[in-house]
Amino acid sequence: MKRAFILLVFLLNTIFLAGQTTYIHCGKLIDTKKGTIESDKTIVVKSNKIEEVLDGFVNPKNKSDKTIDLKGKYVMPGLIDMHVHIESQFDAKTRLKRYILNEADVAFNSVGFAKTTLEKGFTTVRDLGGTGVNISIRKAINAGKIPGPRVITAGKALATTGGHADPTNGSSRVLVGDPGPKEGVVNSVEDAKKAVRQRYKNGADCIKITATGGVLSVAKSGDNPQFTIEEIKAICDMAKDYGMHVAAHAHGDEGMQRAVLGGVKTIEHGTYMSEETMELMKKHDAYLVPTITAGKEVEEKAKIRGFYPAIVVPKALAVGPQIQGTFAKAYKKGVGIAFGTDAGVFKHGNNGKEFGYMVEAGMPAIETIQSATITNAKILKMENEIGQIKKGFYADIIAVDQNPLKNIETMEKVSFVMKDGVVYK
Ligand SMILES: [Zn+2]
Repeated sequence: MKRAFILLVFLLNTIFLAGQTTYIHCGKLIDTKKGTIESDKTIVVKSNKIEEVLDGFVNPKNKSDKTIDLKGKYVMPGLIDMHVHIESQFDAKTRLKRYILNEADVAFNSVGFAKTTLEKGFTTVRDLGGTGVNISIRKAINAGKIPGPRVITAGKALATTGGHADPTNGSSRVLVGDPGPKEGVVNSVEDAKKAVRQRYKNGADCIKITATGGVLSVAKSGDNPQFTIEEIKAICDMAKDYGMHVAAHAHGDEGMQRAVLGGVKTIEHGTYMSEETMELMKKHDAYLVPTITAGKEVEEKAKIRGFYPAIVVPKALAVGPQIQGTFAKAYKKGVGIAFGTDAGVFKHGNNGKEFGYMVEAGMPAIETIQSATITNAKILKMENEIGQIKKGFYADIIAVDQNPLKNIETMEKVSFVMKDGVVYK
């Protein structure tokens, strides 16, 4: 009797430790590596990893195993958005919120944004700047306390004094001090090094700089260069020492060139990118993160009186309409494209609109999906973990109801989401 009991405990333990096995029957399966759609496949998922991908619809061997029927759907790996701000969502009160919200308020708000993002099929995001609460969000998601995508975060973005990510722009001097590298504001090579080390200490995974002026900051220029090339080089060299890559927000061409020459991996927005800079990006293996959805949003919202501060309006009307056209030119020239939206500038969860805008500008639908999966995984140095449905990869699996190669808008209506082997939708 006692022996039988021990045997039973042993068996139960084995089952629990091994985790449940799930068989997912896929009518159509998108192979992001080959750029093809395969028919009738079974993905075998064990705990949080893909165990194997089999031909045909294979049924489980054990009674305790689960089957998920996606025979009528188009299945693909979880999507990766390279540019989100998970902590916030822009509205007419955003500037005021800086003074009335505490970090805890920001954290509670972001819980919903993270959940929405995941439910829309984005199983991994790169967060390009907030207050630093984004680092805590990553920890909470990884610990299984809240649902959300894998977060690779820059923590607080780096700026120069008065630059796009100087958190005190346009504020009363009574309320703000003079932020330095600790707060993410740098004005020399030495400051630059300290700021990167500080981000590392705070728990950031990558570095974001604001290489030029930006649209939504309370400052005059939306495109002037805001770092010296020496400062950018110092940031990129230092980041490399800590295993981090650098992303640069940039609208103006001069700032963009300095960023690429300085060692930045991704250029965000790229609005006024010249052909010369496009060539430079190819030469230096840098990628453009288009954020067309954000461009459309600021153009639209700038037309609503009082939505943005007066100083922002002309910038939004100039920059917004340019972004999609620049993306089209850069794609045609052969610049690497990393799917990214700037969600937070618009409503979280609308990230999937970007696919349609990219297709509209001339990128084939399959390439937009490859951009949001294998290309982004490579930039994040996670190409052996995410971005494909393949043995040994994380079980980040999503599905849409229609063929995205024929109807790209289906990417806005993801109907099945599994992340890390757990079904969220
Ligand atoms: Zn952004």
